[in-house]
Amino acid sequence: MSELQGRVLEFNDLDAQRRQLGGRIDDAIGRVLEHGRFIMGPEVAELEAELARIAGVNYAVACASGTDALLMALMAWQIGPGHAVFVPSFTFAATAEVVSLLGATPVFVDVETETFNMSVTSLKRALASLAQPLVPKAIIAVDMFGLPADYDAIEDVASQEGLLVLADSAQSFGARRNGKRAGSLAEMTTTSFFPAKPLGCYGDGGAIFTDDEELASTLRSLRVHGQGKNKYDTVRIGINGRLDTIQAAILLQKLTIFEAEIATRQTVAERYGSHLEDIVRVPRLPAGTTSAWAQYTIVLEERDAVAHDLKAAGIPTAVYYPKGLHQQRPYSAYPTDPMGLSTTERLTRQVLSLPMHPYLDEGTQTHIIGEVRDAVERNRS
Ligand SMILES: *Cc1c(COP(=O)(O)O)cnc(C)c1O
Repeated sequence: MSELQGRVLEFNDLDAQRRQLGGRIDDAIGRVLEHGRFIMGPEVAELEAELARIAGVNYAVACASGTDALLMALMAWQIGPGHAVFVPSFTFAATAEVVSLLGATPVFVDVETETFNMSVTSLKRALASLAQPLVPKAIIAVDMFGLPADYDAIEDVASQEGLLVLADSAQSFGARRNGKRAGSLAEMTTTSFFPAKPLGCYGDGGAIFTDDEELASTLRSLRVHGQGKNKYDTVRIGINGRLDTIQAAILLQKLTIFEAEIATRQTVAERYGSHLEDIVRVPRLPAGTTSAWAQYTIVLEERDAVAHDLKAAGIPTAVYYPKGLHQQRPYSAYPTDPMGLSTTERLTRQVLSLPMHPYLDEGTQTHIIGEVRDAVERNRS
């Protein structure tokens, strides 16, 4: 272990992935430079076909980011002023931001301790307490840290109340629930190709998944300023939400090793779990689910002291998320579950994400595990 002492490790090792792919990324970028179709070039359609095949849906629409994917999905459903959209508070700002941008009202719901995902009990309370004149319209479930939310329970509530369900699978592309892939678990699903996500490009990117042909065609129109029959026929208000051809070419190369990477992330997660479960709370996958392990997040009361000691030992950690969205100033006036969001608030004080990527070798991981155990024991009185 001595050669690791005094070295600062990677939290997410994108260099190792690039070495694994050899010259293939450079070659793929070179081909785009040659053909010169930088906007909506052939690699974009090729990527969309590949993404749809992996997710097991009819349509994948590539776009400029995970945030644009969420925005375009809500635009396709014509979400706007007067509409309430239920979102977990324990998530990245983008999930609620798009609701506010469209003039609709995000309603913040608590999460479950075990899964970090939306609590259906809290969702029901938030729905029951919704004040006039807001009209409940949609639920955005987030697959936190790579684990799909409980779409069966969420769909039960949604169908009783006539709500739409959007899956924010920015962190979970590649994960499964009851044999089905993220992308096929809700009426529409969005994902992100931000570099640090399980499937990341070398810039911004995203995609939307659906089985509905009409939605897919609306999304394609929204992506190019609401275009109709051609570029100068405008049939709705849209955005510039296209994915660059170069990013599509990079993603096509990364997809060739993606399944193997997801399998290795699972091995890394299992090693953490078996060596840490006796001293901290470790993530547990509900029956029938797999995770894309965007993050490996432990829960412990001594979080800040342990993070401090790990940093001193050269081990990077991260806190996702240090505040619930309902605790952030721009979102603090929106409605919440009337019973409060106590799990979200406790998790923001206790979560700690450890280095997680498919190139984390066993020796390095053993070193990390040893340092985590030492730091927890040192700080636990
Ligand atoms: C990363 C992320 C997004 C936003 O994706 P971008 O590609 O960065 O716009 C949205 N929701 C969640 C839960 C995310 O983790």
